[in-house]
Amino acid sequence: MIPSYSNGPHDLGGDCHAWLLPDGHWGESNTGLIRGDGESLLVDTHLDLAHTTQMLAAFSPLTAGHPIRTVVNTHSDGDHWFGNQLVAGPGVDIIASAAAAELMTPTGAMELAKLWHREDQVGDFVRSVAGGFAPSGITATPPTHTFSGSLELNIGGRQVRLTEVGPAHTPGDVLVYVPDAKVVFTGDILFIGAAPLVWEGPLSRCIAACDEILDLELVAIVPGHGPVTDKAGVQRVRDYLAYVEAEATKRFEAGLSMEEAIASIDLGAFADMAEHERIAANVLNRYQELDPTRPRADRLEQFAHMADFHRAAGLNSHGTIGEGA
Ligand SMILES: [Zn+2]
Repeated sequence: MIPSYSNGPHDLGGDCHAWLLPDGHWGESNTGLIRGDGESLLVDTHLDLAHTTQMLAAFSPLTAGHPIRTVVNTHSDGDHWFGNQLVAGPGVDIIASAAAAELMTPTGAMELAKLWHREDQVGDFVRSVAGGFAPSGITATPPTHTFSGSLELNIGGRQVRLTEVGPAHTPGDVLVYVPDAKVVFTGDILFIGAAPLVWEGPLSRCIAACDEILDLELVAIVPGHGPVTDKAGVQRVRDYLAYVEAEATKRFEAGLSMEEAIASIDLGAFADMAEHERIAANVLNRYQELDPTRPRADRLEQFAHMADFHRAAGLNSHGTIGEGA
């Protein structure tokens, strides 16, 4: 059964739990708890200390007698690890892929936190879409243990399987799968209700990551953002990615500039997804793949293209047309 999409902890069955943060927009990430005999594994922390504190307090009845001994950060974006300092300590392993860990540094954390304070269109955009967060007081707390490929954990007698599917959304994305409960925590391979975002890519790697999820035996799928979903939800994300890949390719081959391609793709069947502006970063990613001589855009440039689209299309703070919050 798919739990309702309300703020707070949700029992997924098999002693796996999700903490959901509606509405799943920029920064509003989900976290998870997997309990074994006498210990627990926490999947991700939040973008700021206030949200992480709230999540840990809500999970505290579950972690009493089952302390968090392992944290897995699904990837290197701040909304999945900035709260690590609140769970770190002796006897706590923090695990991420080696590719993610390379980016989970004090410099990386500072660069992201600075976006909120920029006096330009990127700053305006970030404050507009993620103004409810205040990533300050963050002491970058990186992994204590890294891996590449896959890693099997024993959490109080239960098997938890980590599978690196990056580079995809970011360089080092990881799926966290609990075979005995048939539950997977996907990090930002999945945004449900919003457009997926391909920072690193290429898009084909994000599609392949969706296929990895579709191949698992599952009763609950916890995305990085948005409500708990099923395989139809995964398929829709895959369909969006395949559509954008095909439409961008057509325009590249017809000689359209990237800006023309971004402006001319009709999102059609996907128009109900929030965060429309991600089309700009996703098309940019495809253009880079098709033209390897094109310099790779950094995060700031990716944000600038999304901010441009957001403004030009007259989107609200949820990346849709019309009244927003
Ligand atoms: Zn995220």
